[in-house]
Amino acid sequence: MNWSLKLLKVKGIDIKVHLTFVLILIWAAYRWSVSTGEGMQGAVFGIVATLLLFLSVTLHELGHSLQAQKFGVKVRDITLMPMRGLAQMEEIPEDPNKELRIAIAGPLVNFGIAALLIGIGALLDARALLSIEELQASLGSVSWSGLLAYLTSTNIILGLFNLIPAFPMDGGRVLRALLARKMDHAKATRIAAQIGQGLALLMGLWGFMSGSWTLVLIAIFVWMGAGQESQEAQVKH
Ligand code: ZN
Repeated sequence: MNWSLKLLKVKGIDIKVHLTFVLILIWAAYRWSVSTGEGMQGAVFGIVATLLLFLSVTLHELGHSLQAQKFGVKVRDITLMPMRGLAQMEEIPEDPNKELRIAIAGPLVNFGIAALLIGIGALLDARALLSIEELQASLGSVSWSGLLAYLTSTNIILGLFNLIPAFPMDGGRVLRALLARKMDHAKATRIAAQIGQGLALLMGLWGFMSGSWTLVLIAIFVWMGAGQESQEAQVKH
């Protein structure tokens, strides 16, 4: 059984949403209604904020996909899942310059969205973006400035998080592409994977010591992603 629902088609790419995505919306409605203390209004706000966040994730994946299409790579679909978006494409060419541009296109979209929102905030005189204090005060409030603060900060975080130089994040690919300019692809992958696993280890230790289990989970995810990437490259080699 196929658990994905097709929403629309952009440039020949099917945009789908995985049915488990509904769980995230329910969770968002619950969490925002409790944390804001605004009941139903908070719940609706949580759903709208989450949908707009996933619109940003979709645009991030489209950034990769459209750049890949420019290089003649076929992109089948983009599926939105509870934790992330996933673009299914044919093998990315082993050309460092192309890989670099495809990998960096996603985070650049997030920074672009954040810049646009900051511009809109400036035009509207939104207090939320004046200072870190104002931003923190606006975050989590059921208001337009709360929404602006939420979307601006999540887009910046999304862009930065994806640039962490470790597979399966975009930053891992950026790092490999930069290394592959100086050495062959397999060796570049191996070194990038090792750097990624080193980072995962540090992240895991930090999470463990600070009691942040989310960080430990991310570290495990990054560790496995790096191992898989390095194995695939070795098999191909
Ligand atoms: Zn990406």
